[in-house]
Formats: sequence, C-alpha cells, structure tokens
Amino acid sequence: MSTTLPPGVDDGAFHAALDKFRGVTGAGHVITDEAGLAGYRDPYPVLEPGHFAASAAVRPGSVDEIRQIVLAAGEHGVPLAPVSGGRNLGYGGAAPRLTGAVVLDLKRLNRIIEINDTFGYALVEPGVTYFDLHKALLKRGSRFWLDVPDLGWGSVIGNTLERGVGYTPYGDHLSIQCGMEVVLANGDVVRTGMGGLPGSNTWQLYKYGYGPCLDPLFTQSNFGIVTKMGLWLMPEPGGYQAYMVTLPREDDLEQMVEILRPLRMSQQIQNVPTLRSLLLDAAACGSRKAYYDGPGPVPDSVASRIMADLRIGMWNFYGAVYGPEPVRAAALDAARSAFGQIPGARFYTEGEHDSPVLAARAQIMAGKPNLETINVLQWVASGGHVDFAPVSPATGRDAMRQYLMVRERCREFGQDYMSTFIVGRREMHHICLMMFDSQDPDDRKRTRELCGTLIEDAASAGYGEYRVHPAFMDQVAATFSYGDHALLRLNERIKDALDPAGILAPGKQGIWPLRFRESGLSHS
Ligand code: ADP
Repeated sequence: MSTTLPPGVDDGAFHAALDKFRGVTGAGHVITDEAGLAGYRDPYPVLEPGHFAASAAVRPGSVDEIRQIVLAAGEHGVPLAPVSGGRNLGYGGAAPRLTGAVVLDLKRLNRIIEINDTFGYALVEPGVTYFDLHKALLKRGSRFWLDVPDLGWGSVIGNTLERGVGYTPYGDHLSIQCGMEVVLANGDVVRTGMGGLPGSNTWQLYKYGYGPCLDPLFTQSNFGIVTKMGLWLMPEPGGYQAYMVTLPREDDLEQMVEILRPLRMSQQIQNVPTLRSLLLDAAACGSRKAYYDGPGPVPDSVASRIMADLRIGMWNFYGAVYGPEPVRAAALDAARSAFGQIPGARFYTEGEHDSPVLAARAQIMAGKPNLETINVLQWVASGGHVDFAPVSPATGRDAMRQYLMVRERCREFGQDYMSTFIVGRREMHHICLMMFDSQDPDDRKRTRELCGTLIEDAASAGYGEYRVHPAFMDQVAATFSYGDHALLRLNERIKDALDPAGILAPGKQGIWPLRFRESGLSHS
C-alpha cells in the first residue's frame, strides 16, 4: 500500500516534519514502513481498506517530546492523531479520521504515577491499560476496585476520553475522572481543575477547580492531547454476587425496562447492568453455523431452539449486588421479586447457570478485566464488526421502539440483530453489533448503508448516537443540528481558537479545523 500524505501537505513538508520527529524521539520511534503501520489500520473497514490509513506513526516517550512533536507538526502543517491504546476495534481501532494523518502513539507513556490508598484514586499516563492498573492494585493488596470496560486491553485514558463505560457502581467513566494534564496545539501543558495550582494536593480529589471546568472538553474532541489523568477507585464493597435473569419473549423488553428505571434511579440496582439480546449471548457460546447456515438473518424459528439449547431468553439481564451478606441478601430478594413480575422470567445467581456470559459478566461487574467479550466475534467466520450505538431514554416504550427500528433494518439488510442495552440511571446505551466480512466489498457496502440508514432513522425519531466509527462521524455530527448546526459551529470556533493550524485529529467527531472547512481540501 503506498503512503497517502495528509491533504494539503507536500512531500517536502511531510519529510521535514518526520525528520524533526526523529530528532525528538530517535529514528526507531518514527514508523513509516507498511508492516509497522499495519497495527494502526482500521481493523474492520467499512470503506475501502486503507481509507483511514496513517502515513506514519510517532511514539514519543515523554510529555516534553510530545510538546516538541506538536510544535514541529504545527510548523509544517502535518496533522497528528493521538491514540493511547488504539484497541476500540469496532470504532476504527487506532486509525486516524483523516487519511494520511500521523498517528501520535502514546503507549510509551505508561507509568502509573500514583495509587492513593487513602482516597482511592490513581493518576495514570495514556499507555496504562485496565489490565496494567488492575495488576498494580492486586500487587499492592489494595482495598480498592477498578471499574473496567468489556475488554481489559483498552487504555484507561482512551476509554475515558471516548466516554466509555464499565459495569460496577463506578461505571460512568467520565464521572469518576478527576484532573487531567493536556498538551495543547501551541505547546502549552495545562493541568485542569485543582492541578492548575502548583503543588496542589487536591488535583485528584476535587474535579472543578477554579473557573470554568474544562475536562469534558477534551473528551470526544480534538482540542488537546491528554498526557495524565486521575480516576477514582471504588472501595472494596465487603461482598459481591452476580446474577442473571432470562426473559422468554421479545416484548418482555418493555416491562423489564420499566422495572429497571426506578431501581436504577433510586440506586437499588447500584451498578451498570446489561440487557443482552438472544443472538449476542448465543455468539458468546459458539458460531452461527451451529444453528443456521442459510442466507439472511437467523430466522425466528431457530431462535426457540437456541433458547432451549443454551437455557437463555430472548433477552438476558446481568446484574450484581454489592456489600456485606445481609445487604446482598436483601438486594437479591428485591431483585428477584421485581423481575419475578415478568411471566416466565428466570433468576440465576452465579454458579446456578453454566452460561459463559454470566461467568464473564461476573468478573467484569467485579472490576476484573478480561477479554471474554471478544468471543462474540466467532459468530461469523470473518469476525468484523462496527457498532451502531444510539442512546435511548430508559423507558419500555423507547427500548421497544429502538429495538424494532434496528431489528427491522437489520432484517432488510440481511443482518442479525445483536445488541446490548447498557442501563444507566435515566438512559440506556443501545449497542448494536453489525457483523460483516470486511474483506468483501459488497458486505462493506451493505454494512455502511445499514449504519448510515439507521443513523438517519434514529435521528428522525429523536435518538442520537453516543459514539461512532470514523466513517460516520460527519453524518452523526450533522444530526446534532439544533439551531442551524449551532453546536457544530461552536465546536469549530473552539477548535480554531485552540488549534489554528488545524493539526490535532482533524475531523474527529465531525470537527474540522478552518483549513479543511474553507480551503476545499479533500477529506472524505
Ligand atoms: P483504547 O485505549 O480504549 O483502545 P484509544 O486509545 O483508541 O482507546 O482512544 C480512543 C480515541 O480517543 C482515540 O481514537 C483518540 O481519538 C482519542 N484519544 C485517545 N487517547 C488520547 C489522548 N491521550 N489524548 C487525546 N485524545 C486521545
């Protein structure tokens, strides 16, 4: 594959920038060869492979090196795309939104700077993964738990910046973030919140600091490079028990969500539970072929066989209780009787069911990172996926409406409906996995059209996505159009003020710097 330079950057400027990067990091940390760049490709392209290909990658080893790289990139107009872990495979992996951008790979900054045993927080660099931090907590015999996402290989910072979730009571990752260090496009190194005060002793304790609270501005944006971040850890609760509830009918979804909302709002269900569709759970147990090898989505007639075989429902709910024995017993009783209102619902605690999903969820809801969730990719031989992830109000009516909306489009496009509802306090993330063969141009086109159609369907019903693959970033940004796109224009104004040369992650979340908006540079 030949190198695609960033739009508007000529060969001379590109190579001058790379030479400067080499001077900063040493030549070994500037990657330009095809094999080295392979790890920065979109693992499951929906456009033609190479569409979001990086022209090079640079791997700084310190904050000062990042500053120097940013200044050199600014001087030569070379766009940089920061990544920490780059392991969000369904959202493009480490691939930059702008084809030809240079990936700024932050994995070498991998220090756990502090674990605080009094207040329960950690201060980490971008290369620290959930596995790393969990291991460090275990090693010191910490009495704090880490909240982890589905796949433990992600970085703590990358996941939080994308507003990822976990499944303990600390599952809303942005809500447990406290204090950042950010390198701006002009080379300034800013500490947010209380970190602005030299020698501060509350940087990881009090989020808001003095003056405007800026941390969320650096999430799902391209306004800066986050080089340190604090996060809170959960005190070990004194006991734990996971459980599973199986629901036999597809429209049980409605009643289930009505039961869940008050329980989540009142925190009787303390953690972030999940409600998963039949085929997603079936995929965790084996390949689609075992049940159906025909064209199009798995027919309804096969669904009952899968349910009987695996002893699971059309929907399967995974929750947990936390605390000492009497607290857990009361919470389990309350859950049992709440879900028992649904005819045919079955309740299993861990150990009462051999579901591999329950075993994996039990670990994740206790803050133990693993990679079990990736097993669902065995469903189809090619194993590629992109995620369509609309936010739903936590009402039964909306859940059913989104379910039917997605299921019908999936059927039309010959796709299995596979989803999980991640149940927040008032809303749910409805994560729909679209599996496809990324080597097959027709399948790529089908998947692209399906996702594009769903984004429009959702928007016209008042639903927006929480996160998206780079191929759909512009489309989703355009759906947040209130006030003649006032939100996007505000984001663009902030972008232009902070990054006038337009070098940091151009196009991320649909935010293009001035030089791409007005100069006609091609950036499809
Ligand atoms: P993960 O570690 O979960 O795989 P990534 O490192 O891929 O996550 O991060 C997801 C996205 O967040 C990246 O594509 C990038 O846009 C942004 N990002 C990640 N790390 C940083 C960072 N340190 N500073 C700024 N943006 C970042």
